[in-house]
Amino acid sequence: MQNVMTICNYCGCGCGVYLCVDNNRVVGSYPSRNHPISRGNLCSKGWHLHQFIHSRNRLREPLLRKNGELLPVSWDEALDVTADALHKSRERSGPDSIGVLASAKCSNEENYLLQKFTRAGLGTNNIDHCARL
Ligand code: SF4
Repeated sequence: MQNVMTICNYCGCGCGVYLCVDNNRVVGSYPSRNHPISRGNLCSKGWHLHQFIHSRNRLREPLLRKNGELLPVSWDEALDVTADALHKSRERSGPDSIGVLASAKCSNEENYLLQKFTRAGLGTNNIDHCARL
């Protein structure tokens, strides 16, 4: 078994975590004692960080609800449907009918782009972050 040092990607704290790798599969995670941020601690998300990697329930493609059922679609179709829905909502009820939630799993740069898209693209200040949900 190998222990590979990395950074937890669940939020922006950036805790130091070791992933336990056995036969090319990540099978566990535990905190780094010497990491300057986490200093031997992880929250429950960090302790369970490894579980999503090989999960059969992991989303690998966009899903679109059709006739009440979630079905896999291409990224092009998902983006077209999303853009169309945003456009229609803005036309019908104004830009403040739309709100955007950013993610702790995004990088600073991705969250910066998201607020630009929301403010300059959609025309609303309705942008918040999942940490305040
Ligand atoms: S262990 Fe918890 S607090 Fe640390 S980076 Fe991961 S999610 Fe954030």
